Amino acid sequence: MLKDKIKSLAKAYKEEVIQNRRHLHSHPELSYQEFETAKFVKSKLEEIGIESLEQKATTGWTALIKGKNPDKKVIALRADMDALPIIEANEVSYKSQNPGVMHACGHDAHTASLLGAAKILNEVKDQFEGTIKLIFQPGEEVAPGGASYMIKDGALNNPRPNGIIGQHVMPFIPAGKVGFRQGIYMASADELYVTVKGKGGHGAMPETLIDPVLIASHMIVALQQVISRAASPKIPSVLSFGRVEALGATNVIPNEVKIQGTFRTLNEEWRAKAHQKMLQIAKGIVEGMGGEVDFEIRKGYPFLQNDPELTARATEAAREYLGEENVIDLDIWMAAEDFAYYSQEIDGCFYRLGTRNEAKGIVSGVHTPTFDIEEDALEIGAGLMAWLAVAELQKA
Ligand SMILES: [Zn+2]
Ligand SMILES: [Zn+2]
Repeated sequence: MLKDKIKSLAKAYKEEVIQNRRHLHSHPELSYQEFETAKFVKSKLEEIGIESLEQKATTGWTALIKGKNPDKKVIALRADMDALPIIEANEVSYKSQNPGVMHACGHDAHTASLLGAAKILNEVKDQFEGTIKLIFQPGEEVAPGGASYMIKDGALNNPRPNGIIGQHVMPFIPAGKVGFRQGIYMASADELYVTVKGKGGHGAMPETLIDPVLIASHMIVALQQVISRAASPKIPSVLSFGRVEALGATNVIPNEVKIQGTFRTLNEEWRAKAHQKMLQIAKGIVEGMGGEVDFEIRKGYPFLQNDPELTARATEAAREYLGEENVIDLDIWMAAEDFAYYSQEIDGCFYRLGTRNEAKGIVSGVHTPTFDIEEDALEIGAGLMAWLAVAELQKA
């Protein structure tokens, strides 16, 4: 059976996938600067014997693995390749060699897993019908997102995939398990950059000033009404301000206050309305108190919707591969992910690969200096991805 063949290949190539992951982990590159990573991916694909590489979005690749009857159906598998500006705190043999840059979101694992899946799929290509498109993308971590550039550069054309599957590590799920969710899964995320302008001066003479600190404080409190009053209680939303910069002193009121925050939700219509509402409230409060406001909303990724049917089929295929007990249901996750761009174009399924191992102390969240993965999970990372693609082609 093809499933068992894929399993045995995943076992056979596990060590190689781990070595590739370690190489990538020790040579992390920031978003849109994945030049060495792209070279590495290219050399590995060529080593496997996969031709038809197309360079996309400068540091990205697409490539095809054609089975029998290649035009029948096309399924895309996607991995992201970029790292984060974090100083790694793990003392491991494969520790980051690029100071201040770290694979703290597991994109090294995604890239190594997809290379492993490619090797497996290339070896069994006479045993399935259809085509598998590999997508290695840059810049997942930084807006506007490498996925949007890949799409602009034609990654979803010639041939256009019928569906796309993406995998992401999850440190809250034990290694050995994976998680799926049909429908809405992750949030849209917009960055807010606000400047409240007033008139600074001596803190002892407030009557001669327009105090931007007090105005900004009122504005921050008032803006929470967007969540508590304007938003439907049926649509999750979150508004958080993480940076407030008022560079005065005990007796100095500054001229302006700079504020940064994030707005996240799961509904595009409400997202647009919320933007208007935030601008309206901010303007009303600030101008009402005599100040001026510059309220910039930088739109980030859209919300991520998993196609219910594709995801149901993938979940079923994962159960066949891993057993019922190792496939769990995921809850909504208010982080954002640029895979959302693909899933707005074609049917998408974004699932989670468990990488936690409490016994070894591998428990840190993504985007932290102590993030790491249980590497045993990479056998599933490569094998399951290969199987999901083949299973979806078979269910055509
Ligand atoms: Zn991340
Ligand atoms: Zn990530």
